[in-house]
Amino acid sequence: MRLVFLGAPGSGKGTQAKMLMKKHQVPQISTGDLLRAAVKEGTQLGIQAKATMEAGQLVADEIVIRMISERLHEEDAQKGFILDGFPRSIPQAEALDKMLEAEHHPLGMAVLLDVPMDALFKRLTGRRSCSHCGALYNVYYTPPQKEGHCDKDGAELLHRADDNETTITNRLDVYQKQTAPLVDFYKAQGKFAAVDGERGMDEVFAQIEAAVKTA
Ligand code: AMP
Repeated sequence: MRLVFLGAPGSGKGTQAKMLMKKHQVPQISTGDLLRAAVKEGTQLGIQAKATMEAGQLVADEIVIRMISERLHEEDAQKGFILDGFPRSIPQAEALDKMLEAEHHPLGMAVLLDVPMDALFKRLTGRRSCSHCGALYNVYYTPPQKEGHCDKDGAELLHRADDNETTITNRLDVYQKQTAPLVDFYKAQGKFAAVDGERGMDEVFAQIEAAVKTA
């Protein structure tokens, strides 16, 4: 299983990628998670990326391409992977193809989680994640039982710094301009499938599994 998840911020890529990871025992690799970890640790890369992320813009291609190249060489990625949030631009997609060609393990498929733009805004403003286990909630659609705390372990829920209205507007705009063209990129390769991301979580998962089987 070598998959790319396409979809705007808030389309459910992270949730679905984690579900696939559990079932198929292949790592979910999220450039957003890797970058947030670098920011938290205060590494050189994190310091460079912080302002760009807070503005909702894309971090430079060469930075994320290097990060992904290193991550894909790790042991656990040899039997497959689910890329969540990478590639996000045509140069990133071209670089990924080159990396995988060099390893003689081409990409299986790119799956788009299709969610209309107006639904994404509420999904993003309401999004919260557990500071301990990473479980995801939405204060409008899937609130925790106790406000601000995780149902599983009681830890505090976090609101991502870039899930504010101004940054969300920028992120959705960046998606339309720089990432949406990847749909045609993967269609031209015959490696594209779209699923209706507005369905329930389990139904979306079933649709993804069906699409992946055809790869
Ligand atoms: P995400 O968690 O995927 O929404 O990513 C959060 C932020 O990290 C994005 O708004 C970008 O600033 C940055 N980022 C994540 N993945 C990429 C990527 N593939 N290319 C450039 N920037 C990225």
